[in-house]
Amino acid sequence: MRRVRIIGAGLAGSEAAWQCARRGVAVELYEMRPVRRTAAHQTGDFAELVCSNSLKSDSENTAPWLLKEEMRRAGSLLLEIARQCAVPAGHALAVDRTTFASKVTEVVSREPLIAVRREETTLVDENQITVIATGPLTSDALAGEIGRLSGAGNEGSNVSDADDSWAEAPAPHQLAAHEAPPHALCFYDSISPIVEADSIDRSKVYLAARYDKGTADYINCPMSREDYDRFYDALISAESVEERAWEKLNYFEGCLPIEEIARRGRDTLRFGPMKPVGLRDPRTGKPPHAVVQLRQENLRADSYNLVGFQNHLKFGDQGRVLRLIPGLENARFLRYGQIHRNTYINGPTLLRATLQMKAYPNVLFAGQICGVEGYVESIATGLMAGIHAAIIASDAEPVAPPRASAFGSLMHYVTQADPKNFQPANITFDLLPPLEPRVRDRQERHRVQCKAALSAFDSWLNRVGVATAA
Ligand SMILES: Cc1cc2nc3c(=O)[nH]c(=O)nc-3n(C[C@H](O)[C@H](O)[C@H](O)COP(=O)(O)OP(=O)(O)OC[C@H]3O[C@@H](n4cnc5c(N)ncnc54)[C@H](O)[C@@H]3O)c2cc1C
Repeated sequence: MRRVRIIGAGLAGSEAAWQCARRGVAVELYEMRPVRRTAAHQTGDFAELVCSNSLKSDSENTAPWLLKEEMRRAGSLLLEIARQCAVPAGHALAVDRTTFASKVTEVVSREPLIAVRREETTLVDENQITVIATGPLTSDALAGEIGRLSGAGNEGSNVSDADDSWAEAPAPHQLAAHEAPPHALCFYDSISPIVEADSIDRSKVYLAARYDKGTADYINCPMSREDYDRFYDALISAESVEERAWEKLNYFEGCLPIEEIARRGRDTLRFGPMKPVGLRDPRTGKPPHAVVQLRQENLRADSYNLVGFQNHLKFGDQGRVLRLIPGLENARFLRYGQIHRNTYINGPTLLRATLQMKAYPNVLFAGQICGVEGYVESIATGLMAGIHAAIIASDAEPVAPPRASAFGSLMHYVTQADPKNFQPANITFDLLPPLEPRVRDRQERHRVQCKAALSAFDSWLNRVGVATAA
């Protein structure tokens, strides 16, 4: 049985180490804190939650619940500790972050099969079984090393472009090693809000492409001068997420948050993401005063993103402001806009569905760096990479979880999404395969999807249990 090296004892790395150890595999777990700090972590504890303390909805038959339920069935240590440290938070699972991190640190450090090394890793031996779980704030030296590993088999890849406006930003994966800046894989991630298609009021919007070039794929939400002024005033007075020292953001000029653009003048947005030129409204024959464009998010066309609407507003204020857009008065948001520093690889180009590198199958990625977004998703991919690393250590072949499960859908997204537009994702029903035949009622549809997912996942767990024991 070979040893596994895990780099990063955050959410993904701590879970991965535990999964290896519980399968009898010895682990070396490298964590650079507190010797070397990150810009967001405050302590030297493992699994520190850097921002909110919420592990999302615990309501049955929601997508975050489904993923947590699969994690529970797979024996997630961090989820179990989260439940022990839960604080009242309505239908969400929220934790006391200090107790949570200190318990994870204690349990992981006490495990005889896990040897903790408090040092920064800067090199990766591609022949050694290694899980890279260094998160969105991966140290610069290691980011450079990952750049070197990613160079193999990465032709034609791109960094994730949350928006068209990123097109001119340098694509770290495309830089030769000697050209790579210290933040080779790091950039401020801009995420536009995503809205559920059936919550858009179609009577107020129209389909058009700018200057009628190409097919009319965009949904356009037209604004009169009065609509625009009301929206602008609300936007300018909305509350942004508190800016901390580590978030003194050096924005790319091409992906400024909308509230930042708005602060530069009342009409600036009308020359930027809300530009109406070339978008004639068929009902008036003229372009509106301003327009918000929605772009289809997936093949099923059941979700749309608000083009160029990356922003840094608190979620409550964001919902209130965005619902002032004509057609979005009753919008249901699958994701709100966000901006924060992020380091992640181009999973679809670099990874197999098992989270192993295509070019170096002994090297696996887990957590935010593999292209998922969120605490729970990071723990989940850590769990999966840990299981797979343990299987490799026992000279067997890992098998990806089934597509029908939340795990399988997350991994499918990370490894099969369009590499040119790849960006980290949370678990949503959008990632799961559609039901055939389609169930019209939303609640019933989700219930049936969860049931199918859990049944497929249980079969896979049985299979993996056998493979691991072999
Ligand atoms: C500022 C910020 C706020 C966020 N807020 C939220 C939120 O509110 N809710 C949410 O769901 N998600 C949030 N996320 C996204 C994400 O869920 C978290 O970042 C999550 O902690 C990711 O888990 P991880 O295991 O991938 O990385 P981490 O938990 O960050 O763990 C990575 C570990 O690797 C260590 N490390 C880095 N480089 C090296 C190295 N070279 N050698 C050894 N160790 C190294 C780090 O010290 C760290 O302990 C946020 C992200 C950021 C950056």
